[in-house]
Amino acid sequence: MNARIPVAERGPERTEALRDRLERDLLRRMGRCITDFGLVGEGDRVMVCVSGGKDSYTMLHLLERLRRRSPVKFSIVAVHLDQGHPGYDGAPLRRWLTEHGFEHHIVREDTYSIVVDKLGPKDGEQPQTYCSLCSRLRRGVLYNVAQELGASRIALGHHREDSLETLMLNLMFTGSIKAMPPKLVSDDGRNVVIRPLLYCPEEHIAQLAAIEAFPILPCDLCGSQENLMRKQVKSLLAQMEALAPKAKESMLAALTNVRPSHLLDRGLWDRLGLDVARESEGKSSAVAGEESGEQSAGLAALRTSYGPDGTRRLPVIGNPDDQAGL
Ligand code: SF4
Repeated sequence: MNARIPVAERGPERTEALRDRLERDLLRRMGRCITDFGLVGEGDRVMVCVSGGKDSYTMLHLLERLRRRSPVKFSIVAVHLDQGHPGYDGAPLRRWLTEHGFEHHIVREDTYSIVVDKLGPKDGEQPQTYCSLCSRLRRGVLYNVAQELGASRIALGHHREDSLETLMLNLMFTGSIKAMPPKLVSDDGRNVVIRPLLYCPEEHIAQLAAIEAFPILPCDLCGSQENLMRKQVKSLLAQMEALAPKAKESMLAALTNVRPSHLLDRGLWDRLGLDVARESEGKSSAVAGEESGEQSAGLAALRTSYGPDGTRRLPVIGNPDDQAGL
């Protein structure tokens, strides 16, 4: 799906058609992620964390669509955290949640002052970025709110690009092959965090958010520098995609298609009872360029299956429309 004509310049019919295609695409990808990892089950109460950005609005919108049509009965409660940033105005979000009939809670917790107090500019010191501490404090508040609301799941709106950026950052700085878990239990065992959008491309989310005209809250109120390295990795991924147009889908597919015998994790070899790699395990069915036309590794994340060696394999690719329009 490469349509990039600004929404305002499309006719209403084309915009409607694009909206439907985007929504179908994102719903299918989200549904697959939920199924693959058992993210939501019968009776779950899903607390959807809504920051006011495009990703969380889209996640809430899609989960509600899914809830209405799903045979699995679950409920949704939206939660937004007002962190006390100067100039914050959550009214547009509150209005939108009310107008769309969502059960919702706006929680005010001034984590901003704590962050500034600890990390704010001090004489003779380099300014520090706030994001790490800010996120940890936010997470702590949300965990407590989830308990108070009786939520069995906490849904976060991280998408494909967030996951790939994290993978790259871990490769570059932490010496580990690690992206973002789709399902995570908190250390104290009280909360289960889910990320249903991990198969969803950011661009599709941005396009749908623009068409739906979600009232986005500004995200620069904290005055913190954006995480510079993550920003640079994002641009690196964009360059990779300029070089190989399906690079991001291929990388996403790679996360579903790990060949442990071709890695050097001795502990993993032991845990899986490996003692030698087989030649056939090194052959990929979806090496870029081996497939024809629009067939690519891109759909692999949507149609994975297990190979005889227990690894998740790239499948035979189906209808290219699934990838383009979905
Ligand atoms: S950008 Fe600002 S609000 Fe967002 S995590 Fe960083 S410090 Fe917190």
